[in-house]
Amino acid sequence: MTVPFPHGAEKYQSFRESILRVSPVVREPVTPVIPEMDLQAMWFGGEFGRSYSGTEGEQIEILQFGHWNHSAGPDFTETAISINGEIRKGSIEIEIDSTSWEQHGHGSNPAFDDVVLHVFLHDSRQKFYTRNSRHESIPQIKLDQEALGNATVRDLPEAFPGRCLAPLSEMTDEAVESLIESAAQFRAMRKFDRLKAMAESTSARQTIFQAICEALGFRHNKTAMAVLAQRNPLSDLLALQPAEREARLFGTAGFMETEIYDPSLSSDATDYLKKLWAHWWKIRPALEPEIEDREIRWKLSGTRPLNHPQRRVGAIAAILKRWNYLTVVWERPGEDLEKKWQTRCDELEHDYWQNHYTLSSKASKNPMKLIGTDRQRDILGNVIFPWSLGRHEELWPVFMEMKGVDSNEKLRRAQLRLFGSDSERAGQFAKKYFQQQALLQIYHDFCLEDSSDCQNCPFPEQVAQWS
Ligand code: SF4
Repeated sequence: MTVPFPHGAEKYQSFRESILRVSPVVREPVTPVIPEMDLQAMWFGGEFGRSYSGTEGEQIEILQFGHWNHSAGPDFTETAISINGEIRKGSIEIEIDSTSWEQHGHGSNPAFDDVVLHVFLHDSRQKFYTRNSRHESIPQIKLDQEALGNATVRDLPEAFPGRCLAPLSEMTDEAVESLIESAAQFRAMRKFDRLKAMAESTSARQTIFQAICEALGFRHNKTAMAVLAQRNPLSDLLALQPAEREARLFGTAGFMETEIYDPSLSSDATDYLKKLWAHWWKIRPALEPEIEDREIRWKLSGTRPLNHPQRRVGAIAAILKRWNYLTVVWERPGEDLEKKWQTRCDELEHDYWQNHYTLSSKASKNPMKLIGTDRQRDILGNVIFPWSLGRHEELWPVFMEMKGVDSNEKLRRAQLRLFGSDSERAGQFAKKYFQQQALLQIYHDFCLEDSSDCQNCPFPEQVAQWS
């Protein structure tokens, strides 16, 4: 270790901020591209926090995030907020652009008259005044786009060696190691800060549960899994018997439309579906969304059978059966954190999902792990370590020992851009998980923000001064 934790995070943060101060040209104003349901899930999960300044300078506090509405009407009902100390109860509407309020006809719809807060990310009309059908003004919050972090959809930059290749190749190994370690610490702390904000808005247990579900959703179904965890709070799930809990998860996920009398289904699939339906039909009216745009949308194309979201929901059911046993890993973290997590994941069992890819697939010949090695490591690196590091700084050397994951497109591009064809150096600084995280952070901070094919990126000039 060359950099004590979390001083590296602070060092990288000031390096990053000084660069962006010196050359703001690198950041062109962009309209964020993010689906509305993703934004709502981030809001409801507490990622933006509880305290805000309204567009008129009001001090706004979210006292209760309320319920995610299943029917027509505002997005979140039964919420409570405080505006300059005055408590107001009602609904909250969240949109990408402020003007959607009028475009969707909310201003003339009495169903939106109890809205106490209009939240948006972007104001395309510069100043949009939100009014209800009684012509009453509704307070507004414009969310901070910075808080979106990696959530926005961006095109990956071209894959070619970057302008920073030269200064990086002239730096000593020690200097590059120190840069990498600092960027990795910064990334871990950003993850911890996100989890902490969510925990302050919900609870630590719910936050970890949601974050594990998100990691199980991988890239394509991260939001879908977050919404599933929000619509099925951990405390509600743990209060149910396992069979009812499982039915609730599959039902609210929208997976219970599969025809159980389909003659092509195997007998074990039919039996399993019958068991789920035996509970789901009783709770379905209260839990199923009544309108289509409130349904959870899963992305199935490009998903390997092993990673099918139905299988992932099966894994969540198995995790919940052993929840208390698993929580020890992050509640009492130690040097054996990685091993403990892997062992406990490998022990997870499920009669059906150990041998099936979907609710309708035939049984596989051999049993399959409910959470594969890569997913285990991803949960460890994205959730359990950041959460533990934020509270136990001494775990940093333990985190540094964690092996990297198999390469992916972003990581390959980051390596190519920063180290070019020098595969030995690229390998040297991308073997471990923390190194991969550091490369992704630099790539995110500079390459993804650059729209000049490196020409206006200030990183090469500044990194040469990293010591
Ligand atoms: S955009 Fe900046 S950090 Fe990225 S490769 Fe180009 S010079 Fe390097």
